[in-house]
Amino acid sequence: MIPVLPYKINRIAHIGIAVKSLDESLRLYQEGLGLSLHGRETVESDQVSVAFLPVGDTGVELLEPTGPESPIARFIEKRGEGIHHVAFEVDDIVEALSVLRDQGFRLIDEEPRIGAGGIRVAFLHPRSTHGVLIELCEK
Ligand code: ZN
Repeated sequence: MIPVLPYKINRIAHIGIAVKSLDESLRLYQEGLGLSLHGRETVESDQVSVAFLPVGDTGVELLEPTGPESPIARFIEKRGEGIHHVAFEVDDIVEALSVLRDQGFRLIDEEPRIGAGGIRVAFLHPRSTHGVLIELCEK
């Protein structure tokens, strides 16, 4: 039986893609694929520059490292450019983290923090999510 959870996933908010250069990758996403750039911002705490391109109800989030200690820099060094994470939009991130913690899933963020766009986000550890870095974000 599937349990009734105290929170709900609304949609896939975005797919995060690690790139060496936003400018270079935007050539593909804007000129090649015809997506429009919704905005760019730098998240200092994560040492990352972000570009967001909506696609229907979801979007692509391009992530360029701004320093060698950036998690994105380490990701690219180890695995090359590519899909970095999948973000699910939840209606209640605190409830979601509490349920997942109780079920024994490993959390990278025990508490939500402020991510790109000023919204509350938290990441689950890929070791307990079958290799996928999952971001939860609250609308
Ligand atoms: Zn993200």
